[in-house]
Amino acid sequence: MLVELEQIINELKSDIKKIKDLENLKQVKAKFLSKSIFYNKLKESIKTSDNKREIGEWIKKYTTSVNEILSSKKDELENSFFMKKRENPINDFSRIKISFKNGSIHPITILTRQVMEFFDKLNYHYAHGIELEEEKFNFDILNLDKNHPAREMQDTFYLRGGKLLRTHATNMSARELFNSKHDKYRSYSIGPVFRNDDNDATHSFQFNQIDIFNNGIDMNISNLKWTLNELMKFLFKKNLDVRYRPSYFPFTEPSYEVDVQCPHCENKCKICSYTSWIEILGSGMLSPIVFKNAGINPEIMQGWAAGIGVERIAMIKWMITDIRDLYNNDLDFLKSFKKENK
Ligand SMILES: [Zn+2]
Repeated sequence: MLVELEQIINELKSDIKKIKDLENLKQVKAKFLSKSIFYNKLKESIKTSDNKREIGEWIKKYTTSVNEILSSKKDELENSFFMKKRENPINDFSRIKISFKNGSIHPITILTRQVMEFFDKLNYHYAHGIELEEEKFNFDILNLDKNHPAREMQDTFYLRGGKLLRTHATNMSARELFNSKHDKYRSYSIGPVFRNDDNDATHSFQFNQIDIFNNGIDMNISNLKWTLNELMKFLFKKNLDVRYRPSYFPFTEPSYEVDVQCPHCENKCKICSYTSWIEILGSGMLSPIVFKNAGINPEIMQGWAAGIGVERIAMIKWMITDIRDLYNNDLDFLKSFKKENK
């Protein structure tokens, strides 16, 4: 194992020398992590092996070596980029011609405002999202144990001092539950979440989530379903069917994946992958373990929570095929939403 690992690291060191830009670096990163046969074999074998601890140590040793080499190359590339900029500054600002045109509201902001309007009418409290989070609220209270894969360095941005960039907006449900301890309490929150992910057409290292949380002694699934059904109608401006499929999330029991009827076809189309349904959010009744972790007796309290990706709704609603279009500031793309502006 050691010989194989050393060979791969040597190969990485040689590949690193040929890298010219950050795009190249991304490809090399994928080659040695997500696409690496050695690394994937280790990750597969940990599921079935009796010797999980030893394999876990090999995984850690490998990813640490790879990440150290990649990150020092990244620093070097970024420094050389900024040095070049400094050598060739634009120093005559009078030559820059600027013309102003009326802008329009960004699609993510349009949806954010609509969600706020919906929940404000239902008298939900708006919880201002905390993005720099503690493991306690991002993982511990939500029943994501110490060995949960989401905690790995590959998925989470960890910072010095034990903090991290929140990986989901459900941290706000954990905080509201822990801090409020009210008999009956409902809140929602919208904001960015962060994953240690490479950007592509459907993934981004940062995107926005809506977190909805409602607890009370009489809270039940009917309340969850009514709220989410009405929210879908409100956001899509259509009377769409919604279906609930059993699923698994560590913090809810039972858990549901929620699908919405395709808003673009009567029968079947490309947007819904010819199924008439589109998966849109995750939800469920909060697990008794979560209540216990937050210091609340689950015998006398119940609640539900739901998490929705704002970009996902935007992509379905406006048939956007590449999530990066939402961040690239392409004026033609943004202008197409002018008619949606209120
Ligand atoms: Zn369809």
